[in-house]
Amino acid sequence: MLIDNHNRQINYLRLAVTDRCNLRCNYCMPSEGINFEKREKLLSIDELSELAAILVEQGIDKIRITGGEPFVRKDLIVLLRKLAALEGLKDISVTTNATLIGPYIDELKELGIMNVNVSLDAINKETFKSVTRRDLYDTVYGNLTRLISEGFNVRINFIALENQNTQDIIPMLELMKHYPVSVRFLEEMPFNGGSKNFTAITWDYKRILEHIRSAYPDFKKLVSPKTSTSINYQINGHKSTFGLIPSFSRTFCGSCNRLRITATGDVITCLYGKPVTNLRDIMRSPASTENVKEAILKAIGSRARTGFEAQQNHNAVFENSMTSIGG
Ligand code: SAM
Ligand code: SF4
Repeated sequence: MLIDNHNRQINYLRLAVTDRCNLRCNYCMPSEGINFEKREKLLSIDELSELAAILVEQGIDKIRITGGEPFVRKDLIVLLRKLAALEGLKDISVTTNATLIGPYIDELKELGIMNVNVSLDAINKETFKSVTRRDLYDTVYGNLTRLISEGFNVRINFIALENQNTQDIIPMLELMKHYPVSVRFLEEMPFNGGSKNFTAITWDYKRILEHIRSAYPDFKKLVSPKTSTSINYQINGHKSTFGLIPSFSRTFCGSCNRLRITATGDVITCLYGKPVTNLRDIMRSPASTENVKEAILKAIGSRARTGFEAQQNHNAVFENSMTSIGG
């Protein structure tokens, strides 16, 4: 079991498989993209699966595959097959922009990988295009409805962006009300590759909730797991639920159970902190397994208590892009 220096159990790994993406969401990176890493710096599929196996042995039982866009990696399904065969791994999930997932839906189902988070920040095509800088709304919406009808546990991630998409919050809830999905509204974080600087946000979780309340006064709070980052609700008469994720306000650090590994093997113990070690170089050297285990234990033994504390030691934190961190 992995326990950090603040007595929090770490059982959830967010594993980024690439820093590349076929969209250019303006809250995540500049229009020209970022300086993507050279391919040889990215962990190979064998290295990713070996790393996953080591971490599962140490006590990780949930892995979320993220990126960049995971499905730009053509060999992703090979990794997913290996993860699905890992004993001790109870939950495999994927976060995706749903542009490229179509051809893999059947096999994901066969592998039992049923938890898929789809990032969708608009239901209006033009808004989608201006946020993502790509014209792929129909593809995303088509794949989203297919996932829902095939019985996947779908969660929609919608980032509330001032002056961009907040007019779509209520229509999104209206559109999803007949489906068993969870629509999660996230606060925007300043991880956009340095293209947009801010130290405060207008659309925090309280404002989002008030906005929803003005259209639907009748909703109830749901009981959420202790380690959940979302505060969850259900509107009367809706099959869907909705959640608020205070990713910028950071109200959830006390129960954080996560570890992040980037596509290049950097270990990040807090979104707002610097990478604490790199596992790629350790894995590519002799006697790697024991050294990897030791590096992970060391990283987990020195975590910041909160995102605010982590940020204090990391002046350049807001130059990062979420496409390299994995969200
Ligand atoms: N490409 C995939 C996707 O978009 O779902 C996976 C990677 S993306 C970096 C992971 C998550 O981070 C997405 O839900 C995305 O909306 C979120 N994200 C990206 N940039 C963000 C930001 N600046 N603030 C808050 N969330 C962000
Ligand atoms: Fe790509 Fe996801 Fe970043 Fe959008 S949020 S640019 S889909 S990595």
